[in-house]
Amino acid sequence: MKKIVVAIDGHSACGKSTMARALAHAVGYTYVDTGAMYRAATLFAIERGFVADGVIDQTALRAALPQLNIAFRAGAEGPQTWLNGRCVEAEIRSMAVAAMVSPVAALPFVREKLVALQQEMGREGGIVMDGRDIGTTVFPRAELKVFVTASAQVRARRRYDELVAKGAQANLEEIERNLAERDRIDSTRAVSPLRRADDALLLDNSAMTRDEQMAWLAARFAERAGTA
Ligand code: C5P
Repeated sequence: MKKIVVAIDGHSACGKSTMARALAHAVGYTYVDTGAMYRAATLFAIERGFVADGVIDQTALRAALPQLNIAFRAGAEGPQTWLNGRCVEAEIRSMAVAAMVSPVAALPFVREKLVALQQEMGREGGIVMDGRDIGTTVFPRAELKVFVTASAQVRARRRYDELVAKGAQANLEEIERNLAERDRIDSTRAVSPLRRADDALLLDNSAMTRDEQMAWLAARFAERAGTA
């Protein structure tokens, strides 16, 4: 059976990674969270001191880029993000990283490096990748493309509940502002803006349970992978 590429794109905090991870697990594919890669690049920029008062020192970041190594390693709850030999899975979910990730992800030289890495990871197929530009730029020929969205309130509430469940500090209004700002930057940037690929299936999951979404995705996967 041929192993296909599944591209799941969409707005921030609409449950893309939960769906993508669950599908990959169910069908024995590799899951790649590309948002985690942009978050790790952002943490790298912050830790190296290339971000001050919300401004990125692009020259310094570009020069240091060869020292940016991002990898995924298996953990108890799925793949964990590693930055230069250290597990950063918790740190990359902080609000400090969330506040700077979209400006960092808009830099063409950052995208060039991470897109090449993502294409290499999916070269053999058998991959479920989620992000913003997977169906448009990273794998424009993916066999299954899904574009996920949900209402702004539902998305903010889900991210809030997720942070609270992890024991982190969370402020609903701050989350709402951050999601809206990230979507704005992601959709209007010059390189690979967030947009639905012409051949992507649209999924608005505002009023769907997790099980309903999974059933929908599993059925679409079975059609495209020829396992239906
Ligand atoms: O998916 P997540 O919300 O963790 O992504 C964090 C940020 O990384 C997004 O808001 C976006 O700025 C950036 N991103 C991107 N392209 C991707 C995945 C994420 O620009 N393929």
